[in-house]
Amino acid sequence: MYTSLDLIRKDLLNGSISCKQLVEDYLDNIYKYQYLNAITEVYAEEAVARARSIDARLNQNKAGKLAGMVITIKDVFCYKDHVLQCSGEILGDFESQFNATVIDRLIAEDAIIIGRTNCDEFAMGSSNENSAFGPVKNGLDSDRVPGGSSGGAAVSVQMNMCLVALGSDTGGSVRQPAAFCGILGLKPTYSRISRHGLVAYASSFDCVGIFSKEIDSLSTVLEAIAGTDDFDSTVSKREVPAYTIKSANGVKYKLAYIKETLESEGISSDVKTNFKTQIEILKKEGHIVEEVDFPFLEYVLPTYYILTWAEASSNLSRYDGVRYGYRSKMTTDVHSLYKKSRTEGFGEEVKRRIMLGTFVLSANYYDAYYTKAQKVRSLIRKETKRILNKYDFILTPTTPSTAFKIGNTSDPLEMYLADLYTVQASVAGLPAISLPCGYCSKNMPIGLQVMANDFKEANLLEFSSYFLNLDK
Ligand code: GLN
Repeated sequence: MYTSLDLIRKDLLNGSISCKQLVEDYLDNIYKYQYLNAITEVYAEEAVARARSIDARLNQNKAGKLAGMVITIKDVFCYKDHVLQCSGEILGDFESQFNATVIDRLIAEDAIIIGRTNCDEFAMGSSNENSAFGPVKNGLDSDRVPGGSSGGAAVSVQMNMCLVALGSDTGGSVRQPAAFCGILGLKPTYSRISRHGLVAYASSFDCVGIFSKEIDSLSTVLEAIAGTDDFDSTVSKREVPAYTIKSANGVKYKLAYIKETLESEGISSDVKTNFKTQIEILKKEGHIVEEVDFPFLEYVLPTYYILTWAEASSNLSRYDGVRYGYRSKMTTDVHSLYKKSRTEGFGEEVKRRIMLGTFVLSANYYDAYYTKAQKVRSLIRKETKRILNKYDFILTPTTPSTAFKIGNTSDPLEMYLADLYTVQASVAGLPAISLPCGYCSKNMPIGLQVMANDFKEANLLEFSSYFLNLDK
């Protein structure tokens, strides 16, 4: 299977493959790995039909930049006339009436969307076990989770069911599954990519993220979908630079790693040892790698969860069984219609978060939790940026452990710890990427997270490309 769009384009141009053939190859893999439960709905017929028309355009030299790129989309993006469920039951068989901006932009450049991927319900989770469609399995060991919430997206790339996958990352949902599956996962700066048509979980954190196996395809997609959008007033008006990779050879970087990440209780010894090895490698290559203090690490996770619960409880109030989606059959009056439809329609984790969010926003506790967390958030952003004003990047392990066994974590608090290192970039709104950097003793992949300053995606991708090509 192809690993990069460049190789695909070469073969498309010399005629050794067609888009139609390419789509059929991906479909073969989708069916072969159906047992991993990564894809909720396969758009087989329409993908083949689109491939045919793109082949025709290629012949006339009129094809877009993403011709030859086959993509999956997480079940949280509106795709006109396609079912959207957020891996839950409350949306019923709802069909989107318009395209998310990112979908429009992919289609405009001739990408082919081949399926909708499984995820944690409403993107809430770290293992992809909170899905109404059942858990997704990691392609490297089907007893283990792929991470979450974009677990299906990660596995679709991992097992070559597509070239690139679109996910969403609110607190780590692209970076953490990328690490667990041994692929790349990028969360850009908050506001870099339009969220019009992305189902909201926690609006001040939600980002569109990208999975792939190599940096060029990821950069090409980022370039195609980033930038201002009349339908999303929160998106940055900053110009989108060329993300295509310049060579970082000869560049000497100044890198920081946070002392407290290595001292945190939850980190596994394999991850810690691997991280130290990466640091040594980078030092040997002549980069400055220094330890810095970030005493706020222990506040990052509580801040993230308090704020995202609050925002989720507000965002999810729209699912009430009145205009669309699931409606309970047991209703007697309007009050019971709301109550029963929501009780029956939402899964456990989503309900837990709606209740916690309602609590932290309630009149008596608002200042103690919500207002306080907002203040701590500013502090975390300020302190993280203070480090990034002195260093090019901050390095951390992406996750404290590698992929765990399915069904092993019944304690929600323990699950929240899987996000220990990814949430800092989310709370601070900064871009971060997870890069594969080795395996643990159980042969599961380990990820290195690289965090950069606002809108420094181009530098982040340049460093990533350099790091991945290092002779390690
Ligand atoms: N695992 C985190 C959560 O459950 C992150 C989810 C996400 O990024 N969508 O909130």
